Amino acid sequence: MLFKPDVKLHGITDITVELLNEYNIKALLLDVDNTMSTHHGVVLTDGLMEWIAAMQQSGIKLMVLSNSKKARIEPFAARIGLPFISLGCKPLPSGYLRGVKALGEKRKNVAIVGDQIFTDILGGNTVGVKTILLTPIKPEDGWSFKVRRKLEKKLYKKYGFKD
Ligand SMILES: [Mg+2]
Repeated sequence: MLFKPDVKLHGITDITVELLNEYNIKALLLDVDNTMSTHHGVVLTDGLMEWIAAMQQSGIKLMVLSNSKKARIEPFAARIGLPFISLGCKPLPSGYLRGVKALGEKRKNVAIVGDQIFTDILGGNTVGVKTILLTPIKPEDGWSFKVRRKLEKKLYKKYGFKD
């Protein structure tokens, strides 16, 4: 079940400390595009800074893991005050493994949080971290995204996810 996430939620602020405790998750690797802002957008999703503060107060470690370029991710990560890995090459293992090492936790105690089944979730399941799928904030333009999103819709249906 490499495509199936452990948890499906609507948005990042729906992730609670209680849920993470239930799954024994102590650290999160966070996707950027359509997870914390729109695709290539600069506007943070509602409540993001408060959510980050609440997670950190509960001892949950956070790190950004994005496939986007450093020129985009570095200023974004600085804005939200988190360490980052850019050009993460998800779904390949390398970025996840660097992230897990930097967070200093075991793979089973780390979760990837992202909006794409074929990058975020596939890679997370491959390396053995926990996987949390979110509904993309806003659909992207471009045919390659449209194809992937269509395939994702089929899996949403198969797994019984509502949106
Ligand atoms: Mg994304």
